Amino acid sequence: MRVEKQVRASDLVGCRYRLVQRRTHPEVPRTDAAQARAARYDAAREAVWEKFPRKSDSRRRVFRRIDLGPLPAEDPWLRSLETLEALATGATHITGAVFTNEKWLVGVDMLVREGASTSESSYTPVMVSTHRVARKHDSVKILGVPTHRLGLSEPLELGYKPRHHVLDGYHLAMAARALEDLGLNSGRGALVGQDQSLAFYSDTASYQPALDAALAAVEPANLPTQPRRVKECASCRFWPLCEPELKAMDDISLFLPGDRARAYREDGINTVQGLIDASLGLPSQLASAWRDGTVLLAHGDITMPRADVEIDVDMEAYMDQGAYLWGAWMDGTYYDFVTWEKLGSKAEAHNFADFWTWLMERRDEAHAAGKTFAAYCYSAHGENHWMRMSAQRFHEHTPGVP
Ligand code: SF4
Repeated sequence: MRVEKQVRASDLVGCRYRLVQRRTHPEVPRTDAAQARAARYDAAREAVWEKFPRKSDSRRRVFRRIDLGPLPAEDPWLRSLETLEALATGATHITGAVFTNEKWLVGVDMLVREGASTSESSYTPVMVSTHRVARKHDSVKILGVPTHRLGLSEPLELGYKPRHHVLDGYHLAMAARALEDLGLNSGRGALVGQDQSLAFYSDTASYQPALDAALAAVEPANLPTQPRRVKECASCRFWPLCEPELKAMDDISLFLPGDRARAYREDGINTVQGLIDASLGLPSQLASAWRDGTVLLAHGDITMPRADVEIDVDMEAYMDQGAYLWGAWMDGTYYDFVTWEKLGSKAEAHNFADFWTWLMERRDEAHAAGKTFAAYCYSAHGENHWMRMSAQRFHEHTPGVP
């Protein structure tokens, strides 16, 4: 099995021990969730590539597109050589480009030539992202162009506010750095995100300091030599390898993941038992409760407000496009309201209206019967966020939406 020693942008975000594990255990397969995520990304990439320009709309405008093949490239070194050859021809559009060196590699969905002639040309990297890279805004403007006009029209100021995602920034920064080494860097990059019809531009120089820091952090001498539990462990393919290591160390991150144990580590407390033995009051009590498997620990004199009728509200959303499922758990029964239609459509609005109407009916019934009523949800950023967003988006035109 070939072990890729170069770093990719995805190695620069999140747990750096993942890179160590990937190099040491290349045989560990990706999780089902990761494969599904990759498939979604491939589908998004394919859909965007379909929108890239195929010909010029003017005889006076030179148009020479070279398609090097799909990404990720099976042989990145070969593709990087093909990329250099394509650049040397002065092609106006190059899809499936790859830049690589001893340390890192990056695939670029499309390189778009700027400048009228080959002699004065430079290139702008265009990357496909599954994130929402910009959101409509009344007062902020950024440069953008329809995806099918990339390299054919000058970008215009559009009423959107950019949303920065670290991974997208690293992708563009790497591509710009490779172009800079070739003397072909336009200084800007473009991202096509969830709105696949638009490409938004940004200044790639602004990403370079962060890329420097991230690349320094994955230098072999700076890589961690053991795992530390973080949020992403829950979905990481290397967890079956890391968990026994963490347990053998009794690492404090088992109880306090990520940075939450930093203060204790600074005091020399690196294990769960160490925290228990330190007798630090509540933190030690909680560590001890965690060790015993105690799920809830009463802290002081606590009374929980209860109601005669209690409903637990549930929700599932797809990225930031909308909520396709509302659910309610009441008296041991789960009531579901779901749509598989396009999000942001009437179907989503009506689905939310149905759920909200049902919820309000249960409240009215409770109050009519002289009973108290309470609805709960797990997360302010999940259910509460989408209840407010759904009301904002749909209330004007959908009966039943508050
Ligand atoms: S399981 Fe956790 S610590 Fe191990 S590589 Fe994955 S994210 Fe890192």
